[in-house]
Amino acid sequence: MQDRRKTRKVAIGDDRVGRKFIGGDAPILVQTMTAGYTHDIDACVAEIERYRQAGADVVRVAVPERKDTDALKEIIKQVKVPIVADVHFHFQRALEAVEAGVHKIRLNPGNISDRDQVNKVIDACKERGIPIRIGVNEGSIIERKDKLKRAEELGKFFAGHKSGHMLALMIAKLEEYLDIFEARDFHDVTISAKSMDASMVIDVYTEISKRFDYPLHLGVTHAGPRDTGAIRSIAALSTLVANGIGDTLRISYASDHIDEVKDGLELLYCLGKRERKGVELIACPTCGRIQVDLFTLVKEVEKKLMPELKLPIKVAVMGCVVNGPGEAEGADVAVFAGDRRGIIYVQGQRVANVPEAEILDRLLQECREFEAKVNRGEAKLGEKVVEIVPPAPIGELGSGMDKIRAGLVEQITIGRTS
Ligand code: SF4
Repeated sequence: MQDRRKTRKVAIGDDRVGRKFIGGDAPILVQTMTAGYTHDIDACVAEIERYRQAGADVVRVAVPERKDTDALKEIIKQVKVPIVADVHFHFQRALEAVEAGVHKIRLNPGNISDRDQVNKVIDACKERGIPIRIGVNEGSIIERKDKLKRAEELGKFFAGHKSGHMLALMIAKLEEYLDIFEARDFHDVTISAKSMDASMVIDVYTEISKRFDYPLHLGVTHAGPRDTGAIRSIAALSTLVANGIGDTLRISYASDHIDEVKDGLELLYCLGKRERKGVELIACPTCGRIQVDLFTLVKEVEKKLMPELKLPIKVAVMGCVVNGPGEAEGADVAVFAGDRRGIIYVQGQRVANVPEAEILDRLLQECREFEAKVNRGEAKLGEKVVEIVPPAPIGELGSGMDKIRAGLVEQITIGRTS
C-alpha cells in the first residue's frame, strides 16, 4: 500500500446538507447517481435519501432538460447530502443548476467544449463557491474532425500501450480543458477519466495523477450489472486506491445503485481507507467438512444484523473446527459449527453450544448483547479476552467432531473475562 497522493482540497456542500471535502487529507468519499428522472421530485428525493442512508457521501443527478433543473430547487431543499448536477451538451443546464443551489457541477469536455460557454459556467460556479468536475469519458472523447490522424499522432506518446492513442487523447483533452479553468483562475476542480476497460482506467488515472494535483474521482464506466461489474470496478479502483490514487469514487452498476454505495464503502473499509460503520461479517466458503446449512445461516445473519447493529462488530460464521477457532478468536462474536451444532464465542470466550436450529437466534442475541455492552463501556471492540485451543483435527471427516461432541474444544483465559 502506498501513501495517498497529495491533492488540493475541494469543498462541497453547504451549512444545511453539511460540508464535505474531496482531496487533501479528507477521507475518500463514496458517490452514486440516481437512476430515476430528476423532474419526478418526490421519487428523486426518496432515491437520494435511500443512498444517503446506505452511506453515500455525495449523490449525482442527471439534468438533461429544463424541467430537471427546475425540479432541482425543490430537491435541494429536501435532501440531506450534497448534490452534483450531471451536465452534458447544454451548458445552460449547468447555469440553471447553479441557480437552483446545486453543490457541484459535472461537465463533459467531450460535449461542452465552447470556450465562452465553459467560461460562463466557471464564472457562475466561482460566484457561488461551487466546484466543477471535469469528467472525461472514453466513450465521448473522440473528436469527429481528423480523429484518426490526431489519435495516430497522440498515440506516439504512449507507443507500445494497447490503447496508447486513447490514453493520450484523454489526457490531451483534459489539459486543453483545464487551460480554460486556469486562465479564469478557477481551481475548485476535480477530475475523472473513465473507461469501461479496467486496465485502461488504471493507466489513465496513473498518468493523470503524475500531471495534475486536482482531486481525482475514480470510476469504471458502463461496468455492467453487479455480477460482472463488481469485478471490473474493484479490479481497477482497488489497484488505484492501494497505489495512493483517488479522492472520491463511484462504482457504476446496471442494477440497483444501492449496491454501488455498499461496494464502494466495502472497498474502502477493506483497504483501511475509511473507518467501518456497521457489522463486518466473515464467513467461510464451506467445503466437504460442513455440517450445517451455512449459506442460509450467513444470509440470515447478514439480513438481520446489517441493518440493526451500528457498531463495527466483527462477526465470524464458520463451518467447522479447521478455521473456526482461529476466526472466533479474532472476531468479537463468532460461531463455528460441528455435528449439527454451533459453538458460539464472544471475544474468544465460549458462551453457548446449541443445536443447528437455535444457532441463528442465539448468535443474534449475543451480537445484540455485545453491542449493548460496548455502548455501556463494559467491553471494547477487537479486544481479545481468551485464546481458543482447537482440538486436533482428527476423527470423522478430519473435522475434530468427536472432540467437539466430547466438549474438548478448550479455551485459555488471557485477559478480562467479565
Ligand atoms: S471452516 Fe471448515 S467448513 Fe469452512 S471452509 Fe474451512 S474447512 Fe471447510
